[in-house]
Amino acid sequence: MPKLPADRSESVFTDAKPAYTPNQAMVEAHRCLYCHDAPCIQACPTGIDIPTFIRKISTGNLKGSAKTIFDSNILGMSCARVCPVEVLCVGDCVYNEMGVPPIQIGKLQRYATDAAFEQGWAYYAAGPDSGRSVGIVGGGPAALACAHRLRRFGHAVTLYEKRPQLGGLNTSGVAPYKMPAQRGMDEVDWVLGIGGIQVELGVNVGEDISFEELEFKHDALFLAFGLGPDSRLAEAGADLAGVEGAVDFIERFKLGQEDLSGVCQAVVIGGGNTALDVVRELIVLGVPEVTLAYRGQEAGMSGYTHEWDAAKKEGVRAAWQVQPVGFEGADGKLSAMRCVRLDAHKQPIPGSEHNLPAQRAYLAIGQSKLGDLVAGLQGLEVARGRVVVGPGQATGRPGVYAGGDCANGGKEVVNGVAEGRDAAIAIHDYLCALS
Ligand SMILES: Cc1cc2nc3c(=O)[nH]c(=O)nc-3n(C[C@H](O)[C@H](O)[C@H](O)COP(=O)(O)OP(=O)(O)OC[C@H]3O[C@@H](n4cnc5c(N)ncnc54)[C@H](O)[C@@H]3O)c2cc1C
Ligand code: SF4
Repeated sequence: MPKLPADRSESVFTDAKPAYTPNQAMVEAHRCLYCHDAPCIQACPTGIDIPTFIRKISTGNLKGSAKTIFDSNILGMSCARVCPVEVLCVGDCVYNEMGVPPIQIGKLQRYATDAAFEQGWAYYAAGPDSGRSVGIVGGGPAALACAHRLRRFGHAVTLYEKRPQLGGLNTSGVAPYKMPAQRGMDEVDWVLGIGGIQVELGVNVGEDISFEELEFKHDALFLAFGLGPDSRLAEAGADLAGVEGAVDFIERFKLGQEDLSGVCQAVVIGGGNTALDVVRELIVLGVPEVTLAYRGQEAGMSGYTHEWDAAKKEGVRAAWQVQPVGFEGADGKLSAMRCVRLDAHKQPIPGSEHNLPAQRAYLAIGQSKLGDLVAGLQGLEVARGRVVVGPGQATGRPGVYAGGDCANGGKEVVNGVAEGRDAAIAIHDYLCALS
Protein backbone atom coordinates (compact mmCIF):
# COMPACT_ATOMS: atom_id res chain seq x y z
CA MET A 1 0.00 0.00 0.00
CA PRO A 2 1.26 3.58 -0.66
CA LYS A 3 2.51 5.47 2.42
CA LEU A 4 0.21 8.13 3.89
CA PRO A 5 1.48 11.75 4.04
CA ALA A 6 3.62 12.38 7.15
CA ASP A 7 2.00 15.74 7.97
CA ARG A 8 -1.41 14.30 8.81
CA SER A 9 -3.34 16.19 11.52
CA GLU A 10 -3.33 13.00 13.62
CA SER A 11 0.44 13.28 14.07
CA VAL A 12 -0.10 15.48 17.18
CA PHE A 13 -1.56 12.52 19.11
CA THR A 14 0.52 10.45 21.47
CA ASP A 15 0.04 6.83 22.46
CA ALA A 16 -2.63 6.44 25.15
CA LYS A 17 -1.11 3.12 26.27
CA PRO A 18 2.64 3.24 25.60
CA ALA A 19 4.49 0.03 24.78
CA TYR A 20 6.03 -2.09 27.53
CA THR A 21 9.77 -2.24 28.00
CA PRO A 22 11.17 -5.80 28.08
CA ASN A 23 11.40 -5.70 31.89
CA GLN A 24 7.81 -4.45 32.28
CA ALA A 25 6.55 -7.16 29.92
CA MET A 26 8.44 -9.86 31.80
CA VAL A 27 7.10 -8.75 35.20
CA GLU A 28 3.52 -8.57 33.90
CA ALA A 29 3.77 -11.93 32.11
CA HIS A 30 4.99 -13.60 35.31
CA ARG A 31 1.89 -12.36 37.17
CA CYS A 32 -0.42 -14.44 34.95
CA LEU A 33 -1.87 -17.48 36.73
CA TYR A 34 -2.20 -19.47 33.46
CA CYS A 35 -5.72 -20.41 34.52
CA HIS A 36 -6.94 -23.79 33.37
CA ASP A 37 -10.41 -22.60 32.30
CA ALA A 38 -9.09 -19.18 31.37
CA PRO A 39 -12.08 -16.79 31.24
CA CYS A 40 -9.97 -14.33 29.26
CA ILE A 41 -10.01 -16.75 26.30
CA GLN A 42 -13.79 -17.02 26.42
CA ALA A 43 -14.05 -13.22 26.45
CA CYS A 44 -11.96 -12.85 23.26
CA PRO A 45 -14.15 -13.03 20.13
CA THR A 46 -11.22 -14.61 18.25
CA GLY A 47 -10.49 -17.02 21.13
CA ILE A 48 -6.75 -16.27 21.34
CA ASP A 49 -5.02 -18.74 23.70
CA ILE A 50 -4.06 -15.94 26.06
CA PRO A 51 -2.35 -17.90 28.87
CA THR A 52 -0.17 -19.70 26.29
CA PHE A 53 1.00 -16.53 24.56
CA ILE A 54 1.69 -14.91 27.92
CA ARG A 55 3.64 -17.94 29.15
CA LYS A 56 5.77 -17.82 25.99
CA ILE A 57 6.61 -14.17 26.75
CA SER A 58 7.64 -15.17 30.26
CA THR A 59 10.02 -17.81 28.88
CA GLY A 60 11.52 -15.40 26.33
CA ASN A 61 9.87 -17.11 23.33
CA LEU A 62 8.54 -13.95 21.66
CA LYS A 63 8.39 -15.46 18.20
CA GLY A 64 6.25 -18.33 19.43
CA SER A 65 4.12 -15.98 21.51
CA ALA A 66 3.24 -13.84 18.48
CA LYS A 67 2.45 -16.97 16.47
CA THR A 68 -0.02 -18.13 19.13
CA ILE A 69 -1.79 -14.77 18.72
CA PHE A 70 -1.73 -14.69 14.90
CA ASP A 71 -2.98 -18.29 14.64
CA SER A 72 -6.32 -17.05 16.00
CA ASN A 73 -6.22 -13.41 14.99
CA ILE A 74 -4.13 -12.29 12.01
CA LEU A 75 -4.80 -8.63 12.97
CA GLY A 76 -3.50 -9.30 16.49
CA MET A 77 -1.15 -6.33 16.23
CA SER A 78 -3.90 -3.76 15.81
CA CYS A 79 -6.35 -5.57 18.08
CA ALA A 80 -3.71 -5.29 20.83
CA ARG A 81 -4.06 -1.53 20.47
CA VAL A 82 -7.69 -0.93 19.55
CA CYS A 83 -9.64 -3.68 21.35
CA PRO A 84 -11.77 -2.44 24.25
CA VAL A 85 -9.94 -4.93 26.50
CA GLU A 86 -11.57 -3.41 29.59
CA VAL A 87 -14.86 -5.01 28.53
CA LEU A 88 -13.32 -8.10 26.89
CA CYS A 89 -10.31 -10.19 28.04
CA VAL A 90 -8.95 -7.85 30.73
CA GLY A 91 -12.44 -7.30 32.09
CA ASP A 92 -12.78 -11.07 32.60
CA CYS A 93 -9.33 -11.75 34.08
CA VAL A 94 -9.72 -13.65 37.37
CA TYR A 95 -7.66 -11.03 39.20
CA ASN A 96 -10.64 -8.64 39.02
CA GLU A 97 -12.50 -10.84 41.49
CA MET A 98 -9.57 -10.78 43.90
CA GLY A 99 -9.34 -7.01 44.03
CA VAL A 100 -5.94 -7.20 42.28
CA PRO A 101 -5.20 -5.28 39.04
CA PRO A 102 -5.98 -7.57 36.08
CA ILE A 103 -3.29 -8.73 33.66
CA GLN A 104 -2.68 -6.12 30.95
CA ILE A 105 -3.35 -8.59 28.14
CA GLY A 106 -3.56 -5.93 25.41
CA LYS A 107 -0.17 -4.48 26.29
CA LEU A 108 1.42 -7.95 26.40
CA GLN A 109 -0.18 -8.80 23.06
CA ARG A 110 1.25 -5.59 21.64
CA TYR A 111 4.69 -6.45 23.03
CA ALA A 112 4.74 -9.82 21.24
CA THR A 113 3.16 -8.73 17.96
CA ASP A 114 5.25 -5.56 17.65
CA ALA A 115 8.34 -7.74 18.01
CA ALA A 116 7.11 -9.91 15.14
CA PHE A 117 6.70 -6.80 12.99
CA GLU A 118 10.02 -5.29 13.89
CA GLN A 119 11.90 -8.56 13.40
CA GLY A 120 10.04 -9.31 10.15
CA TRP A 121 9.08 -12.80 11.32
CA ALA A 122 6.92 -14.52 8.69
CA TYR A 123 4.76 -17.42 9.80
CA TYR A 124 2.40 -18.31 6.99
CA ALA A 125 2.68 -19.36 3.38
CA ALA A 126 -0.05 -19.67 0.78
CA GLY A 127 -1.37 -23.20 0.31
CA PRO A 128 -1.04 -25.14 -2.96
CA ASP A 129 -3.21 -23.64 -5.70
CA SER A 130 -6.76 -25.01 -5.36
CA GLY A 131 -7.95 -23.70 -8.73
CA ARG A 132 -10.82 -21.89 -6.99
CA SER A 133 -11.26 -18.15 -6.54
CA VAL A 134 -13.13 -15.97 -4.05
CA GLY A 135 -14.19 -12.34 -4.48
CA ILE A 136 -14.27 -10.20 -1.34
CA VAL A 137 -16.25 -6.95 -1.23
CA GLY A 138 -14.46 -4.49 1.08
CA GLY A 139 -10.94 -4.12 2.39
CA GLY A 140 -11.44 -3.73 6.15
CA PRO A 141 -10.58 -6.10 9.01
CA ALA A 142 -13.23 -8.71 8.13
CA ALA A 143 -12.10 -8.80 4.49
CA LEU A 144 -8.39 -9.00 5.36
CA ALA A 145 -8.85 -11.80 7.90
CA CYS A 146 -10.93 -13.76 5.40
CA ALA A 147 -8.48 -13.17 2.53
CA HIS A 148 -5.46 -14.28 4.56
CA ARG A 149 -7.08 -17.52 5.74
CA LEU A 150 -8.33 -18.31 2.22
CA ARG A 151 -4.80 -17.91 0.86
CA ARG A 152 -3.53 -20.36 3.46
CA PHE A 153 -6.02 -22.84 1.98
CA GLY A 154 -4.63 -22.11 -1.50
CA HIS A 155 -7.62 -20.29 -2.98
CA ALA A 156 -7.17 -17.27 -5.28
CA VAL A 157 -8.52 -14.11 -3.63
CA THR A 158 -9.43 -10.68 -4.99
CA LEU A 159 -10.34 -7.77 -2.70
CA TYR A 160 -12.63 -5.12 -4.21
CA GLU A 161 -12.35 -1.91 -2.18
CA LYS A 162 -14.01 1.37 -3.13
CA ARG A 163 -11.51 3.60 -1.29
CA PRO A 164 -7.94 4.38 -2.39
CA GLN A 165 -6.54 2.34 0.53
CA LEU A 166 -7.25 -0.87 2.42
CA GLY A 167 -7.81 -1.22 6.16
CA GLY A 168 -11.39 0.04 6.47
CA LEU A 169 -12.26 1.83 9.69
CA ASN A 170 -9.24 0.28 11.37
CA THR A 171 -7.17 2.69 9.25
CA SER A 172 -9.56 5.60 8.88
CA GLY A 173 -11.73 5.46 12.02
CA VAL A 174 -10.04 4.27 15.20
CA ALA A 175 -8.80 6.99 17.52
CA PRO A 176 -5.20 8.00 16.74
CA TYR A 177 -4.19 7.78 20.41
CA LYS A 178 -4.93 4.07 20.07
CA MET A 179 -3.38 3.53 16.64
CA PRO A 180 -2.24 5.96 13.92
CA ALA A 181 -3.46 5.28 10.40
CA GLN A 182 0.00 4.42 9.08
CA ARG A 183 0.37 1.60 11.60
CA GLY A 184 -2.90 0.13 10.33
CA MET A 185 -1.59 0.40 6.77
CA ASP A 186 1.69 -1.28 7.71
CA GLU A 187 -0.32 -4.14 9.15
CA VAL A 188 -2.25 -4.40 5.87
CA ASP A 189 1.07 -4.81 4.05
CA TRP A 190 2.07 -7.48 6.55
CA VAL A 191 -1.17 -9.40 5.91
CA LEU A 192 -0.72 -9.05 2.14
CA GLY A 193 2.79 -10.44 2.64
CA ILE A 194 1.35 -13.96 2.39
CA GLY A 195 1.32 -13.27 -1.35
CA GLY A 196 -1.27 -13.73 -4.05
CA ILE A 197 -4.05 -11.52 -2.66
CA GLN A 198 -5.17 -9.43 -5.64
CA VAL A 199 -6.29 -5.92 -4.70
CA GLU A 200 -8.60 -3.76 -6.80
CA LEU A 201 -8.83 -0.30 -5.25
CA GLY A 202 -11.35 2.36 -6.25
CA VAL A 203 -13.96 -0.24 -7.24
CA ASN A 204 -17.40 0.52 -5.86
CA VAL A 205 -19.19 -2.81 -6.08
CA GLY A 206 -22.82 -2.27 -7.01
CA GLU A 207 -21.86 0.70 -9.21
CA ASP A 208 -18.64 -0.13 -11.07
CA ILE A 209 -19.33 -3.85 -11.12
CA SER A 210 -22.45 -5.72 -10.06
CA PHE A 211 -22.61 -8.43 -7.41
CA GLU A 212 -23.89 -10.84 -10.07
CA GLU A 213 -20.82 -10.14 -12.23
CA LEU A 214 -18.60 -10.89 -9.25
CA GLU A 215 -20.46 -14.14 -8.66
CA PHE A 216 -19.84 -15.05 -12.29
CA LYS A 217 -16.09 -14.29 -11.97
CA HIS A 218 -15.56 -16.17 -8.70
CA ASP A 219 -16.58 -19.46 -7.10
CA ALA A 220 -17.68 -17.76 -3.88
CA LEU A 221 -18.15 -14.25 -2.46
CA PHE A 222 -17.53 -12.76 0.96
CA LEU A 223 -19.40 -9.51 1.68
CA ALA A 224 -17.54 -7.29 4.12
CA PHE A 225 -18.58 -3.78 3.09
CA GLY A 226 -19.10 -2.43 6.61
CA LEU A 227 -21.48 0.41 7.39
CA GLY A 228 -22.48 3.44 5.30
CA PRO A 229 -22.12 7.20 5.77
CA ASP A 230 -22.89 9.05 9.02
CA SER A 231 -26.61 9.49 9.70
CA ARG A 232 -27.70 13.10 9.22
CA LEU A 233 -30.31 15.31 10.89
CA ALA A 234 -33.17 16.98 9.04
CA GLU A 235 -33.38 19.98 11.42
CA ALA A 236 -33.23 23.50 9.98
CA GLY A 237 -29.66 24.65 9.36
CA ALA A 238 -28.21 21.12 9.26
CA ASP A 239 -26.71 21.99 5.87
CA LEU A 240 -24.64 24.92 7.28
CA ALA A 241 -20.87 24.65 6.85
CA GLY A 242 -19.59 23.27 10.14
CA VAL A 243 -22.35 20.71 10.69
CA GLU A 244 -20.59 17.48 9.85
CA GLY A 245 -20.70 13.72 10.18
CA ALA A 246 -18.34 12.44 12.89
CA VAL A 247 -16.86 9.51 10.95
CA ASP A 248 -16.23 11.76 7.92
CA PHE A 249 -14.37 14.20 10.14
CA ILE A 250 -12.26 11.46 11.76
CA GLU A 251 -11.30 10.05 8.38
CA ARG A 252 -10.25 13.50 7.13
CA PHE A 253 -7.91 14.30 9.99
CA LYS A 254 -6.50 10.77 10.25
CA LEU A 255 -5.62 10.47 6.58
CA GLY A 256 -4.90 14.12 5.81
CA GLN A 257 -5.11 17.60 7.24
CA GLU A 258 -7.98 19.31 9.00
CA ASP A 259 -8.03 23.05 9.66
CA LEU A 260 -9.69 23.83 13.00
CA SER A 261 -8.23 27.33 13.35
CA GLY A 262 -10.89 29.75 14.55
CA VAL A 263 -12.93 26.95 16.13
CA CYS A 264 -13.34 27.92 19.80
CA GLN A 265 -16.40 25.81 20.59
CA ALA A 266 -17.45 22.46 19.20
CA VAL A 267 -20.40 20.30 20.08
CA VAL A 268 -20.61 16.55 19.49
CA ILE A 269 -24.10 15.05 19.31
CA GLY A 270 -24.41 11.48 20.53
CA GLY A 271 -23.59 9.19 23.45
CA GLY A 272 -21.88 6.23 21.79
CA ASN A 273 -18.22 5.36 21.34
CA THR A 274 -17.81 7.44 18.18
CA ALA A 275 -19.05 10.52 20.07
CA LEU A 276 -16.61 9.80 22.91
CA ASP A 277 -13.72 9.40 20.45
CA VAL A 278 -14.54 12.70 18.74
CA VAL A 279 -14.76 14.79 21.91
CA ARG A 280 -11.35 13.49 23.03
CA GLU A 281 -9.88 14.02 19.56
CA LEU A 282 -11.12 17.62 19.36
CA ILE A 283 -9.46 18.50 22.67
CA VAL A 284 -6.08 17.20 21.47
CA LEU A 285 -6.54 18.94 18.12
CA GLY A 286 -6.71 22.18 20.10
CA VAL A 287 -10.40 23.13 20.31
CA PRO A 288 -10.67 24.99 23.65
CA GLU A 289 -14.30 24.17 24.50
CA VAL A 290 -15.78 20.81 23.57
CA THR A 291 -19.27 19.76 24.66
CA LEU A 292 -20.89 16.35 24.38
CA ALA A 293 -24.63 16.83 23.81
CA TYR A 294 -26.62 13.73 24.65
CA ARG A 295 -30.38 13.23 24.88
CA GLY A 296 -30.19 10.89 27.87
CA GLN A 297 -28.47 10.94 31.21
CA GLU A 298 -24.82 10.17 31.86
CA ALA A 299 -25.60 6.64 33.07
CA GLY A 300 -27.60 5.87 29.91
CA MET A 301 -24.83 6.47 27.38
CA SER A 302 -23.97 3.47 25.20
CA GLY A 303 -20.30 4.55 25.02
CA TYR A 304 -17.80 2.84 27.30
CA THR A 305 -17.59 4.30 30.80
CA HIS A 306 -13.77 4.16 30.80
CA GLU A 307 -13.69 6.30 27.64
CA TRP A 308 -16.06 8.89 29.12
CA ASP A 309 -14.05 9.01 32.35
CA ALA A 310 -10.94 9.75 30.26
CA ALA A 311 -12.80 12.44 28.28
CA LYS A 312 -13.92 14.19 31.47
CA LYS A 313 -10.35 14.23 32.78
CA GLU A 314 -9.24 15.82 29.51
CA GLY A 315 -11.70 18.68 30.00
CA VAL A 316 -14.72 17.69 27.90
CA ARG A 317 -18.02 19.21 29.08
CA ALA A 318 -21.42 17.59 28.86
CA ALA A 319 -24.96 18.79 28.17
CA TRP A 320 -27.26 15.98 29.30
CA GLN A 321 -30.89 15.52 28.22
CA VAL A 322 -30.74 17.90 25.29
CA GLN A 323 -31.78 17.46 21.68
CA PRO A 324 -30.89 19.63 18.68
CA VAL A 325 -33.85 21.43 17.11
CA GLY A 326 -31.86 23.46 14.60
CA PHE A 327 -28.56 25.07 13.71
CA GLU A 328 -27.95 28.82 13.41
CA GLY A 329 -25.29 30.75 11.58
CA ALA A 330 -24.32 33.64 9.37
CA ASP A 331 -22.86 33.63 5.85
CA GLY A 332 -23.64 29.92 5.59
CA LYS A 333 -21.41 29.08 8.58
CA LEU A 334 -22.50 27.53 11.86
CA SER A 335 -22.44 29.73 14.97
CA ALA A 336 -24.71 27.83 17.39
CA MET A 337 -26.71 24.69 17.87
CA ARG A 338 -30.26 25.37 18.98
CA CYS A 339 -31.47 22.72 21.40
CA VAL A 340 -34.27 21.85 23.73
CA ARG A 341 -34.10 20.19 27.13
CA LEU A 342 -35.71 16.77 27.53
CA ASP A 343 -37.48 15.35 30.55
CA ALA A 344 -36.81 11.90 32.02
CA HIS A 345 -39.03 10.36 29.29
CA LYS A 346 -37.00 12.13 26.58
CA GLN A 347 -39.90 14.53 25.88
CA PRO A 348 -39.09 18.21 25.09
CA ILE A 349 -39.66 20.54 28.03
CA PRO A 350 -41.73 23.53 26.79
CA GLY A 351 -39.89 26.84 26.87
CA SER A 352 -36.46 25.21 27.37
CA GLU A 353 -35.03 26.08 23.95
CA HIS A 354 -31.56 27.61 24.10
CA ASN A 355 -28.39 28.00 22.05
CA LEU A 356 -25.10 26.17 22.50
CA PRO A 357 -22.51 28.38 20.76
CA ALA A 358 -20.44 26.27 18.34
CA GLN A 359 -18.49 26.75 15.14
CA ARG A 360 -18.55 23.00 14.56
CA ALA A 361 -21.24 20.42 15.32
CA TYR A 362 -20.36 16.76 14.76
CA LEU A 363 -23.15 14.23 14.31
CA ALA A 364 -22.23 10.98 16.01
CA ILE A 365 -25.70 9.47 15.91
CA GLY A 366 -24.81 6.32 14.00
CA GLN A 367 -23.93 5.21 10.51
CA SER A 368 -26.41 4.07 7.89
CA LYS A 369 -26.59 0.34 7.03
CA LEU A 370 -25.62 -0.79 3.53
CA GLY A 371 -27.57 -4.05 3.35
CA ASP A 372 -29.82 -2.61 0.64
CA LEU A 373 -26.85 -2.92 -1.73
CA VAL A 374 -27.54 -6.66 -1.88
CA ALA A 375 -31.22 -6.76 -0.98
CA GLY A 376 -32.15 -7.72 -4.55
CA LEU A 377 -30.06 -10.90 -4.61
CA GLN A 378 -32.42 -13.87 -4.52
CA GLY A 379 -32.12 -15.97 -1.37
CA LEU A 380 -30.09 -13.36 0.48
CA GLU A 381 -31.98 -11.86 3.40
CA VAL A 382 -31.47 -8.31 4.67
CA ALA A 383 -33.04 -7.27 7.98
CA ARG A 384 -32.88 -3.71 9.32
CA GLY A 385 -30.08 -3.00 6.85
CA ARG A 386 -27.91 -5.94 7.97
CA VAL A 387 -27.03 -8.93 5.83
CA VAL A 388 -28.53 -11.94 7.62
CA VAL A 389 -26.07 -14.80 8.16
CA GLY A 390 -26.28 -18.25 9.69
CA PRO A 391 -23.60 -20.76 10.75
CA GLY A 392 -20.22 -20.18 9.08
CA GLN A 393 -21.34 -16.65 8.13
CA ALA A 394 -23.34 -18.12 5.23
CA THR A 395 -26.16 -16.06 3.72
CA GLY A 396 -29.19 -17.82 2.22
CA ARG A 397 -27.63 -17.53 -1.26
CA PRO A 398 -25.31 -20.45 -2.10
CA GLY A 399 -21.65 -19.43 -2.17
CA VAL A 400 -22.27 -16.00 -0.67
CA TYR A 401 -21.00 -15.29 2.85
CA ALA A 402 -20.92 -12.07 4.90
CA GLY A 403 -19.24 -10.76 8.03
CA GLY A 404 -18.04 -7.75 9.96
CA ASP A 405 -20.12 -4.63 10.49
CA CYS A 406 -22.37 -5.22 7.43
CA ALA A 407 -23.64 -8.40 9.09
CA ASN A 408 -23.25 -7.75 12.82
CA GLY A 409 -24.61 -4.19 12.61
CA GLY A 410 -21.42 -2.53 13.91
CA LYS A 411 -19.23 -4.08 16.60
CA GLU A 412 -15.45 -4.04 17.04
CA VAL A 413 -12.44 -4.85 14.86
CA VAL A 414 -11.94 -8.15 16.67
CA ASN A 415 -15.50 -9.26 15.81
CA GLY A 416 -14.87 -8.50 12.13
CA VAL A 417 -11.64 -10.54 12.26
CA ALA A 418 -13.37 -13.51 13.91
CA GLU A 419 -16.21 -13.45 11.38
CA GLY A 420 -13.85 -13.08 8.39
CA ARG A 421 -11.75 -16.01 9.60
CA ASP A 422 -14.80 -18.20 10.28
CA ALA A 423 -16.27 -17.35 6.88
CA ALA A 424 -13.00 -18.40 5.20
CA ILE A 425 -13.16 -21.80 6.91
CA ALA A 426 -16.78 -22.25 5.81
CA ILE A 427 -15.99 -21.05 2.26
CA HIS A 428 -13.13 -23.57 2.09
CA ASP A 429 -15.54 -26.40 3.02
CA TYR A 430 -18.00 -25.12 0.40
CA LEU A 431 -15.32 -25.00 -2.32
CA CYS A 432 -14.01 -28.45 -1.42
CA ALA A 433 -17.54 -29.84 -1.75
CA LEU A 434 -17.79 -28.36 -5.29
CA SER A 435 -14.91 -30.48 -6.57
C1 LIG B 1 -15.16 6.26 14.69
C2 LIG B 1 -14.99 4.80 14.94
C3 LIG B 1 -14.06 4.36 15.88
C4 LIG B 1 -13.90 3.01 16.11
N1 LIG B 1 -13.00 2.62 17.06
C5 LIG B 1 -12.82 1.30 17.30
C6 LIG B 1 -11.87 0.88 18.28
O1 LIG B 1 -11.22 1.69 18.94
N2 LIG B 1 -11.72 -0.44 18.47
C7 LIG B 1 -12.41 -1.38 17.75
O2 LIG B 1 -12.19 -2.58 17.93
N3 LIG B 1 -13.34 -1.01 16.83
C8 LIG B 1 -13.55 0.31 16.60
N4 LIG B 1 -14.48 0.70 15.67
C9 LIG B 1 -15.26 -0.32 14.96
C10 LIG B 1 -14.40 -1.00 13.88
O3 LIG B 1 -13.64 -0.06 13.18
C11 LIG B 1 -15.28 -1.80 12.95
O4 LIG B 1 -16.07 -2.70 13.72
C12 LIG B 1 -14.47 -2.63 11.95
O5 LIG B 1 -13.60 -1.80 11.20
C13 LIG B 1 -15.41 -3.40 11.04
O6 LIG B 1 -14.69 -4.05 10.03
P1 LIG B 1 -15.38 -4.36 8.62
O7 LIG B 1 -14.31 -5.00 7.82
O8 LIG B 1 -16.64 -5.07 8.85
O9 LIG B 1 -15.81 -2.95 8.02
P2 LIG B 1 -14.98 -1.63 7.65
O10 LIG B 1 -13.78 -1.48 8.50
O11 LIG B 1 -15.95 -0.53 7.64
O12 LIG B 1 -14.49 -1.92 6.17
C14 LIG B 1 -15.43 -1.99 5.11
C15 LIG B 1 -14.74 -1.60 3.84
O13 LIG B 1 -15.61 -1.85 2.74
C16 LIG B 1 -15.49 -0.81 1.81
N5 LIG B 1 -16.74 -0.75 1.01
C17 LIG B 1 -17.96 -0.34 1.41
N6 LIG B 1 -18.84 -0.44 0.40
C18 LIG B 1 -18.18 -0.94 -0.65
C19 LIG B 1 -18.54 -1.27 -2.00
N7 LIG B 1 -19.80 -1.12 -2.44
N8 LIG B 1 -17.58 -1.73 -2.84
C20 LIG B 1 -16.29 -1.88 -2.40
N9 LIG B 1 -15.89 -1.58 -1.14
C21 LIG B 1 -16.82 -1.12 -0.28
C22 LIG B 1 -15.28 0.42 2.67
O14 LIG B 1 -14.67 1.46 1.95
C23 LIG B 1 -14.39 -0.12 3.79
O15 LIG B 1 -13.02 0.02 3.50
C24 LIG B 1 -14.67 2.06 15.41
C25 LIG B 1 -15.61 2.49 14.46
C26 LIG B 1 -15.77 3.83 14.24
C27 LIG B 1 -16.80 4.31 13.25
S1 SF4 C 1 -7.71 -14.86 33.44
FE1 SF4 C 1 -5.98 -13.44 33.89
S2 SF4 C 1 -4.62 -14.67 35.18
FE2 SF4 C 1 -6.02 -16.14 34.21
S3 SF4 C 1 -4.98 -16.82 32.31
FE3 SF4 C 1 -6.24 -15.05 31.74
S4 SF4 C 1 -4.84 -13.28 31.94
FE4 SF4 C 1 -3.87 -14.99 33.08
